[in-house]
Amino acid sequence: MKHFSHYPLQKHNTFGFSVQCADFYQYEQKEELQQLYQQGVFNGKWLPIGGGSNLLLLNDLDYAVVHSQINFIRSEKETDESVWVRVGSGVIWDDFVQWSVENQLGGIENLSFIPGTVGASPVQNIGAYGVEAKDVIREVEVYDTKDNRFYSMDAASCRFEYRGSIFKELKHLIVVSVVYELATKNYSLKLEYGNVREVVQAKGDESLSTVRNAIIEIRKSKLPLPEEIGSAGSFFKNPVVDAQLFQSIFEKYPSMPYYSLEDGYKIPAAWLISQCGWKGRSIDAAGVYEKQPLILVNRGGATGADILFLMHQIQLSVKDKFNILLSPEVCLVE
Ligand SMILES: Cc1cc2nc3c(=O)[nH]c(=O)nc-3n(C[C@H](O)[C@H](O)[C@H](O)COP(=O)(O)OP(=O)(O)OC[C@H]3O[C@@H](n4cnc5c(N)ncnc54)[C@H](O)[C@@H]3O)c2cc1C
Repeated sequence: MKHFSHYPLQKHNTFGFSVQCADFYQYEQKEELQQLYQQGVFNGKWLPIGGGSNLLLLNDLDYAVVHSQINFIRSEKETDESVWVRVGSGVIWDDFVQWSVENQLGGIENLSFIPGTVGASPVQNIGAYGVEAKDVIREVEVYDTKDNRFYSMDAASCRFEYRGSIFKELKHLIVVSVVYELATKNYSLKLEYGNVREVVQAKGDESLSTVRNAIIEIRKSKLPLPEEIGSAGSFFKNPVVDAQLFQSIFEKYPSMPYYSLEDGYKIPAAWLISQCGWKGRSIDAAGVYEKQPLILVNRGGATGADILFLMHQIQLSVKDKFNILLSPEVCLVE
């Protein structure tokens, strides 16, 4: 276990904010969490972080941050058509995707190049290009910081939803490993989303590695690379509205993109933000990404408070124009 005091978090948040935490604990074995329990770390305020790619750190944290470096990928059982793979929470998500593709295991290739760690994948129920982590997660092993014990939760108990899960409520749980079921044969590639099929076909063959390369190419063309421009990916969730509100907006904007759901209509937040004229705009060093207005960026030297101010301004204009309150997908951390 490594422990640092007054630890800089600039390299641990993809916005690149220059903030620090009072204590930073980095553990490689799950049992080390029990030492932290004995030391009373979990009695006060504390925060688990992975790659910091979905955090808006609003100021210095006068409490402890715990960071997993539990690194393993292990096959646990095989069925006729799949393998169950247990992965440590500290593994970089995209390293796991690359491993799965190299081993001809299907299921997560569309989730290529999403920043962050395996530990956060069930918390956020990460998703992209028509696939979500919940499609393949079978079990999540957690450490309960109240009871000082480890246990496993099946997928149903995780209550996965769009960019969320039970772990957003049960903040006393730390994810230590995740079991994914990946297909060894008969997997069907998911190419329907956006221009994925087109880019895959242009590459000549339909294999797991071609899909992975296509997804990486598409993402690089649309999304800011964290090492070049600070962001936390999509800042807002796409709102779901009821039929009445949908109709009233649709009458005014018949070209509005939308998806019909069982419980309403999902409207792309990027479209709403663009309609309010925010695309490419900035307030001081906090900006709205030119190529994708759902992404708020640090144009250099922005603070969490700058991004928060921009977030509020965008929320106000969207509420004013469409009567929709955008909620952040990013975790606000004080
Ligand atoms: C350029 C860019 C593109 C992105 N694209 C996508 C995308 O396509 N799809 C998508 O879904 N997301 C996307 N994201 C968001 C981000 O990559 C994901 O949310 C990712 O899962 C965050 O992982 P992390 O390890 O960085 O988590 P962090 O940001 O460190 O933490 C996120 C949340 O999880 C909690 N957490 C972290 N580790 C643990 C743990 N071990 N146990 C319990 N709680 C934990 C934290 O407390 C926090 O609440 C993108 C981000 C960026 C910067």
